[in-house]
Amino acid sequence: LTPRLQPFTSTIFAEMTALATRTNAVNLGQGFPDTDGPASMLAEAQRAIASGINQYPPGPGRPELRQAIARHRTRYATEFDPDTEVLVTVGATEAIASALLGLAGPGDEVLLIEPYYDSYAACVALSGATRRVVALREDPETGRFAPDIDAIRAAIGPNTRLLLLNTPHNPTGTVFTHAELTEIAAICVEHDLIAVTDEVYEDLVFDDRKHVPLGSLPGMAERTLTISSAGKMFNCTGWKIGWMCGPAELVAAARAAKQFLTFVGGAPFQPAVAHALNHEAAWVTGLREQLQSKRDRLVAGLTEAGFGVRPSEGTYFVCADVRPLGFSDGFQLCRELPERIGVAAVPVQVFTDSPEQWQHIVRFAFCKKDEVLDEAVARLHKLT
Ligand code: PMP
Ligand code: GLN
Repeated sequence: LTPRLQPFTSTIFAEMTALATRTNAVNLGQGFPDTDGPASMLAEAQRAIASGINQYPPGPGRPELRQAIARHRTRYATEFDPDTEVLVTVGATEAIASALLGLAGPGDEVLLIEPYYDSYAACVALSGATRRVVALREDPETGRFAPDIDAIRAAIGPNTRLLLLNTPHNPTGTVFTHAELTEIAAICVEHDLIAVTDEVYEDLVFDDRKHVPLGSLPGMAERTLTISSAGKMFNCTGWKIGWMCGPAELVAAARAAKQFLTFVGGAPFQPAVAHALNHEAAWVTGLREQLQSKRDRLVAGLTEAGFGVRPSEGTYFVCADVRPLGFSDGFQLCRELPERIGVAAVPVQVFTDSPEQWQHIVRFAFCKKDEVLDEAVARLHKLT
């Protein structure tokens, strides 16, 4: 194995899901829903297969999907040309990889906010660039994990080329505010940075919060690649239909890498996702409402079981402090939990460069049926 991949031999999701399967545990580790997406979308995919949409789609993606993506982004008052400013990818994962491979290389620094989604560090390593990491700061009063604007500013040097930002944020569940994003945008403009934003949870924000794309703020359209995915929007994480939108020059750079990663993918799923983007907005609203009530359900259960629950403002996830239960190492606990009580969760420290500062925080996913959440909570009560 090449040295640059040596730190990335396995993912925590694979490890914890394998453990959960082996022990028959309730899996609140890997974030994937246990119900299907809109029926009309599933029917469209079947129709597409039956009607012969089974060969390579066009390199940038099928035109009806690129049009639907561009139309979908008009809700943020952002405009993209479906022919040159939209690229369909194999999930957001490939969009992130191709953006980094196309835009960053040896000598460049890429700024990540930690905790960071695991593929970010691996893809920065693949690109040959160097990662600089700035931690979210926990608000001592509310427990909310917030971006530390001064620390972000301080981390920027002459070689910083790109900022990779994720909101709504996995794993903390923080939804960056308009004010926070405005400050981050000002830093990008001041230092002439490219921004790559991972917005896969854009629709999953709670309590009347609003998702704000960084690319919609002044001065950002010309320097931002915005990434999203159908997986979280329409409960189809296994379809791996993702996309990016941005200025033609940046999209072309990412596309140059993408064409040699997978070339294309998911032909019959593309018209189905286009259909869902065009016709299933009400279904997504329903999903958001259900997830908010699932969040409330799991938060109540975890709190009762004795965890120090942190606020979850969006995504599939809630973070919890394990110290009130007498534990200190979340990784150790997550390795033991399936065997001990039959629940799987994910330690947040694996998404950071400073594990000791995050080792007391564990992430639970609530994108599961109510009875599954209830069973997990009942088991977690047996922990002490
Ligand atoms: N970014 C974040 C923050 C995620 O949580 C995930 C996983 N769901 C992805 C990217 C990957 O998305 P996809 O499954 O579309 O590749
Ligand atoms: N995004 C999902 C999570 O954070 C899992 C994705 C994966 O398994 N790679 O749980």
